[in-house]
Amino acid sequence: MSDRKRSAHDGVADGPGEAGGGPAEGMMVLVAEDQEVTRSLLVAMLESLGAKGVIEAEDGRAALEISRELGQPFDIVITDIDMPDMDGMAFIRKLSAVQSGASLIITSALDRGLLDSVEAMCAAYGARLLGTIPKPASAERMAELLSRFRPQPQMADNIAVPHMAFTLDEVLAGLAHEEFEPYMQPQIELASGRVVGAEALVRWRHPEKGIVSPYAFVELLESEGRIADLTWLMLAKSAAYCKLWREGGLDLRVSVNISAKLLSDATMADAIIWQVQNQGLQPHHMTLEVSESAAMSHVGEVIENLLRLRMKGFGLSVDDYGTGYSTAQQLTRVPFTELKIDRAFVSHASRKESSRQILESSLEMARRLNIRSAAEGAETPEDWNLLRQAGCDIAQGYHVAKPMEAQAFPEWVAGWA
Ligand code: C2E
Ligand code: MG
Ligand code: MG
Repeated sequence: MSDRKRSAHDGVADGPGEAGGGPAEGMMVLVAEDQEVTRSLLVAMLESLGAKGVIEAEDGRAALEISRELGQPFDIVITDIDMPDMDGMAFIRKLSAVQSGASLIITSALDRGLLDSVEAMCAAYGARLLGTIPKPASAERMAELLSRFRPQPQMADNIAVPHMAFTLDEVLAGLAHEEFEPYMQPQIELASGRVVGAEALVRWRHPEKGIVSPYAFVELLESEGRIADLTWLMLAKSAAYCKLWREGGLDLRVSVNISAKLLSDATMADAIIWQVQNQGLQPHHMTLEVSESAAMSHVGEVIENLLRLRMKGFGLSVDDYGTGYSTAQQLTRVPFTELKIDRAFVSHASRKESSRQILESSLEMARRLNIRSAAEGAETPEDWNLLRQAGCDIAQGYHVAKPMEAQAFPEWVAGWA
């Protein structure tokens, strides 16, 4: 192994970093690169940019061994994609298994299409791609990429998350104690800028763990056949809030998520109708968002339920359109009124060519079917403008607001107007 440990502080380095304040100031960096000349160049560059420690490896395998031995996470890992023995992609996969949340820089020129998938692969492995730097590497580009580094990978939301494991009994006890409630995320009509509704997203107000995300319990409830318990609560509370807003003079609708699993029992439509009407809300003021997360059985029952709900006046939305089982085929079987494009194709679509293509063709599909288009996950002003220009009807996303407590919603609407 030709790796050696180097430090900018014990050598003769006298770059801007020594003077204090280079973009790599104080960072631990690993460089995996098979060509020795390129590698030395990168090391010297990083040292001059202020890195505290730079470790070199001649390929993925060596790099992995070092990071295992060191037992200390690197701030940044710089790797080539094309290396003998273990290539950059295998290296990224294995590295992510020993160090979660690594920040990566890739030293290969990749075209846009490839770059998007490498970025997606990194994200799926829990790593963050800061960018690519074509060879020969320039110090400016390196400095730019280093400045994108953030020590703590930001959570999507300020809430307790997924890997928290709960047992079914714990979740059911929380439901029995009424610890679950809808948070509301505003939905904006892009053409007018008006707030037209809200999506109700469940949160668990856990007595010890704080606000818990649906990713920690929805799947469990689905697989244990107990999703109905949660759904009745969400339908009733969301309907009650929507009725209250409407009585207060706000012309708003509410969207509620319905698991396709629930609809495999043909009596469910009647139960849903009852929950909503019991709160005094008319079904046409509510949209039911349905997403097929697993291969569906009981297709007949699901369609029967959705037909009955539509006939009663509910809006029906294909949630997460473009992913998994939410595909064009669904649109042919059920009278959907809304096509809701998954946030995978919305967030940062302005700078991701492949996402933008799918986004635009989904909008085109909605137009042709003459149904409403909606987008979730618009995070930046650029995403928002893109949606407006592309003719999307409705959007929601962090750019405008994160899901909030339902009580706070009317005031938020007043502030928005
Ligand atoms: P979904 O129905 O696709 O909801 C959209 C998710 O995107 C929400 O996550 C929302 O908070 C998030 N989101 C909205 N805008 C942005 C953005 O700009 N950036 C990012 N990064 N995320 C954004 P949330 O609230 O964590 O819900 C996750 C999923 O849990 C939902 O996805 C839905 O499938 C499920 N879920 C939530 N509430 C319920 C419920 O009452 N019943 C059922 N069955 N499932 C629910
Ligand atoms: Mg939804
Ligand atoms: Mg969705």
